Amino acid sequence: MYDVLIIGGGIAGSYLAFKLSSLGLKVLLLEQKKNTNGKECCTGLISYECLKLYPFDDSLVIRKFNRATLYSPSKKKLIFQRDNTQALVIDRPKFDLFLINLAIEKGAHFYSGNKAEDIEVNDHKVMLRVDYNKHFLNFEAKVGIIANGYNSKITEKLGLGYISNIVLGAQTEVESLNHEEVEIFFGRNIAPGFFGWLVPTRPNQAKVGVLTRNNPKIYLENLLSMLTKMGKVKNTKEKCHTGGIPLTTLTQSYSNRILVVGDAAGQVKPTTGGGIFYSLICSDIAMETLKGAFEVNNFSCQYLSQYEKKWKETLGQEIKIGYLARKIFESFNNQMIDLAFELVKRSGVLEGLLKNEELSFDWHSKSIINILKNNQVAKLIGINKYLKDGDDI
Ligand SMILES: Cc1cc2nc3c(=O)[nH]c(=O)nc-3n(C[C@H](O)[C@H](O)[C@H](O)COP(=O)(O)OP(=O)(O)OC[C@H]3O[C@@H](n4cnc5c(N)ncnc54)[C@H](O)[C@@H]3O)c2cc1C
Repeated sequence: MYDVLIIGGGIAGSYLAFKLSSLGLKVLLLEQKKNTNGKECCTGLISYECLKLYPFDDSLVIRKFNRATLYSPSKKKLIFQRDNTQALVIDRPKFDLFLINLAIEKGAHFYSGNKAEDIEVNDHKVMLRVDYNKHFLNFEAKVGIIANGYNSKITEKLGLGYISNIVLGAQTEVESLNHEEVEIFFGRNIAPGFFGWLVPTRPNQAKVGVLTRNNPKIYLENLLSMLTKMGKVKNTKEKCHTGGIPLTTLTQSYSNRILVVGDAAGQVKPTTGGGIFYSLICSDIAMETLKGAFEVNNFSCQYLSQYEKKWKETLGQEIKIGYLARKIFESFNNQMIDLAFELVKRSGVLEGLLKNEELSFDWHSKSIINILKNNQVAKLIGINKYLKDGDDI
């Protein structure tokens, strides 16, 4: 009988396994993949704030950036630059392994190549059936954590809902010029409704990827051929990795003896699809909730509801406003994106954002509200059709 069993050895699951084992709890961490080489489609871009708050070893940081250039469909540019580091790219596969090792050092039991198949919860325990090389193993614990990423069928089985509102991503490694900045590309032929990216990593290497609702591999080809024509990349024959990102949150992220964390709960920035920082923040909130639950031996739905209350207090507004911006942007055609670039430049919005500390890599809602309050921008997008009755920007 474990205290806690965790399904999913990604960022949320392995970080929680580390934190809960550090409290002296008996933790089981299960990962379906045999090799623990992390989520290879993930670019690994995080903020400086995230780096400072969480256990990132220096060896995990590949590159630091203080500048990003955004390109409109007709190649108008918006340049975001500050004096100090704004974002970093970490070695995502190494980071997952690093967290798993921290958890093991603190006493967690880690099993890879173990797919959680079936879960049941009663008033006394959580029971899990796991597929291990076609044999079934059964585990029991006082609490279960679902941290198995996007497209989690387990949350559905537990009656907590299923997030069908997702975006798909595809990414590959390329040889590139030695770029010094992150580059983001917009346009309906590259990433309709979303964006593509070129993120320099090691010398003369970069990650190139796209997010789209459909056919990410096809759009990635379009982006690669555009970047090749622009002379930014060459040799684009590396393997392409794909994955999904939830854009909305789960109906409910807790129940009797259960918490859901990370992508499985939809703890992601809907603007950019970044979920590393939010997963870590919510894992800390889950850890604090469970610490209290073990102290008073109360794992009821009502007790565990404080987890959702707290993470929504921290991130709820960001996710809500971020999703509004996402919906607005998804309706833009190429001309509107170009016009928006012009407006942001001409109206002084860009300078205002850069001077204002409110614009940061992870916290977007205040900047979005400021942009939407600009009369010209509000007119361009017809803001009222996106607001519900009684809502006010
Ligand atoms: C193309 C792309 C690029 C991205 N780039 C960034 C970025 O630059 N910065 C950023 O912050 N975020 C990025 N993200 C998002 C980020 O990868 C996720 O938000 C983050 O990985 C969420 O962590 P997680 O632990 O919740 O889920 P995951 O990292 O997906 O981990 C879930 C784990 O559960 C395992 N699992 C699933 N089902 C089972 C089961 N039944 N039994 C056992 N194990 C199971 C999976 O194998 C996986 O290892 C990107 C995502 C994509 C798709």
